[in-house]
Amino acid sequence: MISYIIAIAVLVLGGTLIFWLMRNRKQAKHLQPPFNITREPRKTIIPRDKHPVSRRHINDNALKVINRLNSQGYEAYLVGGCIRDLYLDLHPKDFDIATNASPEDVRRLFRNSRLIGRRFKLVHVLFGREMIEVATFRANHEQHHGQEKSRHSESGRILRDNVYGTMEDDALRRDFTVNALYYDGRDFSVVDFCHGVDDIRTGTLRLIGDPVTRYHEDPVRMLRAIRFVAKLNFSLAPETEQPIRELGHLLRDIPAARLFDEVLKLLQSGEGVRTFELLREYQLFGPLFPATEHCLQEQDRHAGNLIIEALNSTDQRVRQNRPVTPAFLFAALLWPPMRRMARELMDQGIPPVPAFQQASMTVITNQCNHTAIPRRFSMMVRDIWDLQIRLERRQPKLIETLLAHPKFRAAYDFLVLREQSGENLSAAGQWWTEIQELDEHGRYAMIRSLSSHGSQKKPGNKRRRRRRKPYSDNASSNSQSGES
Ligand code: ATP
Ligand code: MG
Repeated sequence: MISYIIAIAVLVLGGTLIFWLMRNRKQAKHLQPPFNITREPRKTIIPRDKHPVSRRHINDNALKVINRLNSQGYEAYLVGGCIRDLYLDLHPKDFDIATNASPEDVRRLFRNSRLIGRRFKLVHVLFGREMIEVATFRANHEQHHGQEKSRHSESGRILRDNVYGTMEDDALRRDFTVNALYYDGRDFSVVDFCHGVDDIRTGTLRLIGDPVTRYHEDPVRMLRAIRFVAKLNFSLAPETEQPIRELGHLLRDIPAARLFDEVLKLLQSGEGVRTFELLREYQLFGPLFPATEHCLQEQDRHAGNLIIEALNSTDQRVRQNRPVTPAFLFAALLWPPMRRMARELMDQGIPPVPAFQQASMTVITNQCNHTAIPRRFSMMVRDIWDLQIRLERRQPKLIETLLAHPKFRAAYDFLVLREQSGENLSAAGQWWTEIQELDEHGRYAMIRSLSSHGSQKKPGNKRRRRRRKPYSDNASSNSQSGES
């Protein structure tokens, strides 16, 4: 009996113990932050022999600026993307400097400098055509409640943040840990406050601080995250990645002009295809190009192909150091909604040319509410689109004029791209490729053979052709040709 009671007691006690242990484990798990977001900032100085950043790869003028500031008793460091890139053995795009000297002090020290900035006050030190940007250490608003120099919108976006701070404040208000490394020109060390070097080693892109707050402060950080993931081939830290899909809508509050600049950085840096895929994956393409996103979601057969082809060609040109124009990219990005709208207008009985022109105008105007398109580029987008109709038509009388058109090259490239993306344009691209390679006699023969084949005009348009100018006539048959 006694042993029976002991056995029951042991069972009950054991069960209670196991239950208690399990519960605590569950609670402990629950209490843990879901991700490792609480890595405390800690100043670490990495001496020269423990890091790969060599002076030989640092811009001479940038070194001159930090040395001059140091010699006048100020602290000054190279900071941001340049140190990150040098760590990764990449060529920095620019060299930025952070200092405890005020913008006015910096301006006074360098005769070849100017004060700039509305949102942030900065100094540009000019060396011929080269410019080195010098910023005074800044702090986050939260770190300096006393100073009334920072303002936030209702959604938490920073509207103005000219709040000066210490070097550590400056590190903490930067976006990613790998962008908060400082190079000290006095002893050639690297200063790391946010474990950026660890993240460089593991290829991790991690926002500093609480990601949701930091994205609300400046939603462009989401675009920057995508850009750096594509450029550096890094992975997003889980806590940095998680809120992005839910916060893309915040981009709608960002001034269209700033988003235009960001789009160029995203898509014209040589990793456009990968960046486009990531933007779509993280649902950030829609807030930038809503009309195009709509076409992509509707499984428009050619839309995705055309954009990928355009970005592929842009990537190749960037890698070969050949010039690229935003107009070409925007022509491709906005072609799907423009073509769709033109078709809808034609279905309502509007003749093709006015339909095409109205659609071009509407799509560009609507897009400007999201990303600005400076006028010189939007004009070129329209030229490229207008010429498509005529290049497809290949009207014998117009061939020479088209070949001499200042935007012929861009329009021809675009035509070829459309064919590559699967549009059926009756081999117009190949035809224009061939004619450009021929001498005068060869061209004449090609044009004559067009005439003898009755050119590319569609039967049944005769009456309208007689009434309308050749340009309109072309459009009537071509804006529908090859498009299912
Ligand atoms: P790259 O020049 O290669 O595009 P970068 O990191 O140098 O990359 P910049 O736009 O030149 O990017 O910015 C310089 C530095 O300023 C960044 O490294 C980062 O520390 C800081 N910074 C830039 N934009 C932001 C932002 N939106 N929020 C917080 N910090 C930023
Ligand atoms: Mg930079």
